[in-house]
Amino acid sequence: MGHVRHFDLIIIGTGSGNAILDERFADWDVAVVEKGVGSHASYGGTCLNVGCIPTKMFVHTADVANAPVSGERLGVELRLDEVRWPEIRDRVFGRIDTIAESGKRFRRDENPNVTLYEGLARFTAPRELSVETAGGPTTISADRVVLAAGGRPVIPEIPGIEDVEYHTSDSVMRLERLPEHMIILGTGFIGAEFAHIFSALGVRVTMIGRSGRVLRNEDTDVSERFTELAARQWDLRLNRRETGVERAGSGVRLHLDGPEGAESVEGQTLLVATGRRPNSDLLDTIAAGIETAENGKIKVDSTQRTSAEGVWALGDISSDHELKHVANHEERVVQHNLLHPEEPVESDHRFVPHAVFSAPQIASVGLTEQQAVERGVRYVTATQDYGGIAYGWAMEDTTGFAKLLADPSTGKLLGAHIIGPQAPTVIQPLIQAMEFGIDARSMARGQYWIHPAMPELVENALLGLPLD
Ligand SMILES: Cc1cc2nc3c(=O)[nH]c(=O)nc-3n(C[C@H](O)[C@H](O)[C@H](O)COP(=O)(O)OP(=O)(O)OC[C@H]3O[C@@H](n4cnc5c(N)ncnc54)[C@H](O)[C@@H]3O)c2cc1C
Repeated sequence: MGHVRHFDLIIIGTGSGNAILDERFADWDVAVVEKGVGSHASYGGTCLNVGCIPTKMFVHTADVANAPVSGERLGVELRLDEVRWPEIRDRVFGRIDTIAESGKRFRRDENPNVTLYEGLARFTAPRELSVETAGGPTTISADRVVLAAGGRPVIPEIPGIEDVEYHTSDSVMRLERLPEHMIILGTGFIGAEFAHIFSALGVRVTMIGRSGRVLRNEDTDVSERFTELAARQWDLRLNRRETGVERAGSGVRLHLDGPEGAESVEGQTLLVATGRRPNSDLLDTIAAGIETAENGKIKVDSTQRTSAEGVWALGDISSDHELKHVANHEERVVQHNLLHPEEPVESDHRFVPHAVFSAPQIASVGLTEQQAVERGVRYVTATQDYGGIAYGWAMEDTTGFAKLLADPSTGKLLGAHIIGPQAPTVIQPLIQAMEFGIDARSMARGQYWIHPAMPELVENALLGLPLD
């Protein structure tokens, strides 16, 4: 066996894992391993390169392109003249690729205690890994290892899928040109965000789902409303099974089985957005005695330690919440626990919010009504329409609402779900109230709410709760 270089710490993955290293690690000998994410060798992980950040840069552009739709109901007639896709795409990646590149340069060239290995890492023994670098395989080991290796898109087993060209979220944002018609497979948040992005930019979108609703993990009221609105914007085909896919001209033809029998749909671009899986398999975690759950997530305790001595995990590879703010929180927990092993801290997953930046937008925190029922929790609800507050009149919004769940005896919030303009921003005071245990009445009446601003939606929903 050749030389094995030994480190104090190995970090695998440069998404949230990259943020662990600050000046407090200056005297640690550290290896960082990154294989590159998406369609090109990149640094900085999913969120920066192929996830949250580029999608939201495209979403904002799509919202602007959608102005004629919202103008229409206000008596303002606008026309979308042109969408310069190459310019839109290059603005987004011109910024992102530069940030990714300078992040890499900083770690590689300006951190004398850090060695960057570019390649795929795989365990060969406990806390020992082989890395496939351009210069050949190299073996490294360490006292401590942090697994921050994230996840990747899952490709469903549809007969013929290997013979057609398809995209995932990793590649679709870098399309050469916009297609006339895009087929999106999947009705989760990634599918819903891309459907909005591409349809607002003028692409005809067909969205295909296996269940009867879009965003079916949301509170049922929210998911039903979103499904209704999705069907108005896109060619929505639910309760469908894909039975095959084949090439058709320069595009694809997808065969489906659905409520009305067999059908097919043709489009120029196929976007597969049917879910993601953790990258634990790529790491060969079994070789290191690291336990994983059935879904491939690495098992961690409340301090982010895995079942193997000296090995921590964080973010999408181990968390049930595949969200950047959760990965970042867990990264700070791991960072603390590496530095202060004698006083470990725990992750806080009590009130994890999430958002969907589609049309309309959605944000949610805490229990859905179906979860409250399943858990047998005593609860009351209140729903406030955007249409019932002054700013909603200003926007002529007729479909958005906030729905709250609360404990009727204490007034403590159990869940909050908003569908409508700026939902991810409007929800923040509710997240704060849940985290800090502020009850609905004190929250509603214990502070001023700027009139007539959008948070009046929250104020009125709170006042509407039929508490004991
Ligand atoms: C299209 C899309 C949109 C999203 N939008 C949002 C959003 O709006 N808000 C939000 O909160 N979250 C969003 N997410 C989720 C968010 O991107 C992830 O939760 C977050 O990036 C997870 O961070 P991480 O550090 O766990 O993993 P990652 O950022 O995925 O980092 C893992 C890194 O490890 C590397 N790696 C993996 N295996 C190996 C190996 N064996 N050897 C070497 N390197 C390896 C990978 O190349 C990657 O760079 C989105 C995700 C997608 C795909």
